[in-house]
Amino acid sequence: ALCTAKADSPAFFSARTRREATDFLRIEASLRHALSHGGLELWLQPKLRLGDGRVEAAEALIRLRRPDGSLLPPGAFIAVAETSGLIRALTHWVIQEACRRLATWRQAGKGMARLAINVSAHDLEEEGFAAFLLDALQRQGLPSSALELELTETTLFAMTDRSLAALGRLREAGMRIAMDDFGTGYSTLSYLHRLPIDVLKIDRAFVEEVHLHPVRAGIIRAILSLAESLRLDTVAEGIESEAEAAFLAELGVEVGQGYLYARPMPEAELMAWLDTPRPRSAGGTGAS
Ligand code: C2E
Ligand code: MG
Ligand code: MG
Ligand code: MG
Repeated sequence: ALCTAKADSPAFFSARTRREATDFLRIEASLRHALSHGGLELWLQPKLRLGDGRVEAAEALIRLRRPDGSLLPPGAFIAVAETSGLIRALTHWVIQEACRRLATWRQAGKGMARLAINVSAHDLEEEGFAAFLLDALQRQGLPSSALELELTETTLFAMTDRSLAALGRLREAGMRIAMDDFGTGYSTLSYLHRLPIDVLKIDRAFVEEVHLHPVRAGIIRAILSLAESLRLDTVAEGIESEAEAAFLAELGVEVGQGYLYARPMPEAELMAWLDTPRPRSAGGTGAS
């Protein structure tokens, strides 16, 4: 944006810059407040097996509740958290909250056996991150397989040796690692097979109206054959229609997630959703 500012429009430029800076500071302040006084909420979205509709796991998606009651989506504050250095505290909160809930569900014999959390590149760079995660699980008496880590393709691709070592250690301990938003980054095939990952999450860009776009279907076929060769599981994100679900199931995608089944929601709503009868196929075929 800097290079587009004209020398003769300093007032316009500085007003915009000031506004952006104010927004940034406001969000940073909200985040800081939430980290020490509460206000972060972990919303959950189920992942279903497309073949039989069985609920496999859920993904934890963070929300920020501001004192005025408004709710901010992660797109509005994760980048701020990363820039301001608050991301590590935020991720620690997510990990502890995820483990706490998993333990509660286990005791109640209800809920999910596995939760996926999103982590950023900054987290993996943290000295002792793997130890923190394993310790959080252990404190709640949970196996390492109870948590899954989702990292974007871009994060994984730019990983340092330290981050790779941390991931490798977590994976050896039994934690599943998923590459999020797959297909939107720049993974090279030769690099992909060396990464410590278990799952490819196919980005919503290829899922959207896949039944109407042969190129998207072709890309998904290619991803599936890649996943098979590398022995990786596949998840399709952002499924919104029966037609997409049926088509993806036909192609051979194993697990799906999206508004068609459920939006991300607070824990209590998810528990009610789990108790509601659903079709035994999540792939459209046979669904009412
Ligand atoms: P993501 O991990 O790729 O999550 C998928 C996003 O798509 C979520 O947006 C989810 O609400 C949304 N979504 C799910 N199903 C559908 C659908 O059928 N249609 C459409 N249009 N969207 C769908 P959300 O919750 O706003 O999160 C956005 C991103 O923020 C996430 O993308 C993730 O990268 C990041 N994020 C979320 N929670 C955390 C967190 O705790 N830590 C970090 N570091 N990042 C997080
Ligand atoms: Mg994710
Ligand atoms: Mg994703
Ligand atoms: Mg995505």
